Amino acid sequence: MSSVPVAVVTGSNKGIGLAIVRALCQQFPGDVYLTSRDPGRGQAAVAQLQQEGLRPHFHQLDIDDPQSIRALRDFLKEKYGGLNVLVNNAGIAFKVHDTTPFAVQAEVTLKTNFFGTRNVCTELLPLMKPYGRVVNVSSMVSSSALGRCSQELQQKFRSDTITEDELVQLMTKFVEDTKKSVHEKEGWPNTAYGVSKIGVTVLSRIQARLLNEQRKGEHILLNACCPGWVRTDMAGPKATKSPEEGAETPVYLALLPSSADGPHGQFVSDKTVRPW
Ligand code: NAP
Repeated sequence: MSSVPVAVVTGSNKGIGLAIVRALCQQFPGDVYLTSRDPGRGQAAVAQLQQEGLRPHFHQLDIDDPQSIRALRDFLKEKYGGLNVLVNNAGIAFKVHDTTPFAVQAEVTLKTNFFGTRNVCTELLPLMKPYGRVVNVSSMVSSSALGRCSQELQQKFRSDTITEDELVQLMTKFVEDTKKSVHEKEGWPNTAYGVSKIGVTVLSRIQARLLNEQRKGEHILLNACCPGWVRTDMAGPKATKSPEEGAETPVYLALLPSSADGPHGQFVSDKTVRPW
């Protein structure tokens, strides 16, 4: 078994994820795994970084596929005996003018951004080694969407005692409410992406709390973050940040020094803790 530290970035064949892998290859003292749901796209991205003189490793990972997540888990367990850095970056967003029915957009978006990210955490968080760093890439849109929820929902999403099961029930209810076209009446904002990222931010707060309760002394730091508005296939060419600039906050959180005792359980953008 290798004692080399290991970092994994989900959805890293392009965009912000690829820029995170590039920065970690330059700064993380260990093996960095570029992962992609499509091995062809993943290997092409690895080749691109190799041309830049970097040495990323590759593993397939489709966060929508529990088998794929378990295969990565088993590989990490066997080869490294755990994991030092996990960046949950993979995500999707429908374009503003997409005509796909809203209920379908809600189901598909929540499936990857919330449920897929949660499934990765369920399998990989138990593997985190002491002083591990977990970064869940959320969005400022989670904050704006939270502000457009009913007071009752806002209270639940800001609660310091909400459980993962309760969060899953709420995310499931959103999808069901969109199918019945009652989501607005039920207090939800009209944004599937926004609700999915509320899920990611609240999940991060819950996971950090559980680490405090169950693994105190292991010094693992876990945060949600927003990369900013970044020029990628998702956000388009008008966005203000380059992918490298978008990677800065996630990489800062992934490389928090072993002497740091925070941030932990926070929502961070531009390397600054934001109110939730
Ligand atoms: P992007 O260029 O569209 O890249 C998204 C990445 O996620 C791609 O590698 C994609 O793979 C991968 N992915 C999607 N579904 C996946 C799945 N089921 N399993 C594994 N990988 C999957 O988007 P981006 O702008 O870099 O976004 C990265 C993250 O930042 C997302 O979580 C996004 O919500 C968040 N974010 C972005 C912005 C922004 O302005 N760009 C702002 C706030 C937050 P394929 O190539 O196979 O599709």
